[in-house]
Amino acid sequence: MAYISTRDSSVRVTAAQAIAQGISAEGGLFVPEKFPTLTASDFEALKGMDYIERAQFVLRFFLDDFTEVELDYCVKGAYTNTFDENRPAPIARLGEKANVLELWHGPTCAFKDLALQLLPYLLTVSAKKTAAGKKTVILVATSGDTGKAALEGFKDVPGTEILVFYPSDGVSPMQKLQMASQKGENVHVFAIHGNFDDAQTGVKQIFTNDEIKQLLAENNMQFSSANSINWGRLAPQIVYYVSAYCDMLAENGDLSDGINVVVPTGNFGNILAAYYAKKMGVPICKLICASNANNVLTDFIRTGTYDRNRPFYTTYSPSMDILISSNLERMLFELYGNDAETVAKLQADLSMNGKYTVSNDVCAKISGLFYGGCCDDAQTLKTIDEVFEKYGYLCDTHTGVAMAVYEQYLKETGDNRPTVIASTASPYKFAKNVLSALSDDAAADEFGYVRLLHDVTATEIPSPIAALENATVRFNETCEKDGMRDVVLKSLGIE
Ligand SMILES: *Cc1c(COP(=O)(O)O)cnc(C)c1O
Repeated sequence: MAYISTRDSSVRVTAAQAIAQGISAEGGLFVPEKFPTLTASDFEALKGMDYIERAQFVLRFFLDDFTEVELDYCVKGAYTNTFDENRPAPIARLGEKANVLELWHGPTCAFKDLALQLLPYLLTVSAKKTAAGKKTVILVATSGDTGKAALEGFKDVPGTEILVFYPSDGVSPMQKLQMASQKGENVHVFAIHGNFDDAQTGVKQIFTNDEIKQLLAENNMQFSSANSINWGRLAPQIVYYVSAYCDMLAENGDLSDGINVVVPTGNFGNILAAYYAKKMGVPICKLICASNANNVLTDFIRTGTYDRNRPFYTTYSPSMDILISSNLERMLFELYGNDAETVAKLQADLSMNGKYTVSNDVCAKISGLFYGGCCDDAQTLKTIDEVFEKYGYLCDTHTGVAMAVYEQYLKETGDNRPTVIASTASPYKFAKNVLSALSDDAAADEFGYVRLLHDVTATEIPSPIAALENATVRFNETCEKDGMRDVVLKSLGIE
């Protein structure tokens, strides 16, 4: 299967190249030239498989330059004994139609584990094929969840070294502790004086600095990226939508009217994976895109104009506080029938003016495929409370946004098909805000809130979060923005 770039129609690479490289040289994103389709008998076979077998079945199409042995090594390595009960993506049913797809049973209690447990395997196999013997150096700038999930994924993976930078005052206490206590011999964690944009800019500058790249090359190393524009992070996400549909088929058989999917969205990666699953034959009718107060996507879906020139809000669902949804570029490429020239032009508009408007034709396609909705923090908390009252089911703030928009959709359309709601984090990751939806009790610190939430709801505290309370802090170094280059070289031992 060939991969092409969203911005240059002359680019064609293999899956291994797309994954090892991360992004196309001219800035475009890699997408498969053609999508495979699953037949009725494929679904019949998938129904009887476990998650690992389903992942192998689906990923085999996309990684056709991987051998069976390599694919087996990657998928089994990623999903064996890393998720609760070896079930990476179980469903909790609420009432008749709502199927909550719990994507937070991995080591960091957020959905990014599903992709970041697999990516290190895909990346090291890809690097072996495309750059034999070189050590892969992963640089990550994080606002919280991605950094920890990447650290867990890459820890002690042979042939890799990972460095994570987070803004010293820009992550939650729980997220900070998760990263500062990270285990592994190949991991490096730094706080930087500055905000997330400073961390991101610093990482980009190091990535593209010729002198540093040269130094790495002399030491038999090369940079790669673990962020969500890498195809190696998207492909694993398609699997759980296929898997959820198969679980629903196995359970109640009749899904002849199709299903809907609700996704709490930031960078547009998770919902794009659902769209790709639809393209492969999962009968998804509506893709319901749920946003918080940063509702740039809601407006885009409703009007056809993407406009990031607006206030940025810090919300209770921080992983969705995003105004530039990078993976939307892949969706535009689809909607414009693989027209790289037009996509390149729209992206240029976005970086120059902060906005673009799609054609009427594309706008019509978008409203056919998607429903866009948003809600504020107050509505999110109210929904968490109502869902808990009605079903005894506790959801986190991101999932709360999804549930609120799902209700809006039901009210507006009456379309009551069986629906998958992507649940992207454990409520215990955001214990203080989740608790405030249910109770006025207050605690002295983060773990106090974890215990209170447990007392009030009688739900289970995930073991990775419980274990944090007594974890040893290994990393407490803070560096300046312009000191990032030096700490990278020092950590790699090549200064
Ligand atoms: C990253 C994240 C999201 C947003 O996912 P995208 O793929 O960026 O749209 C939603 N919820 C949580 C908990 C996340 O960590």
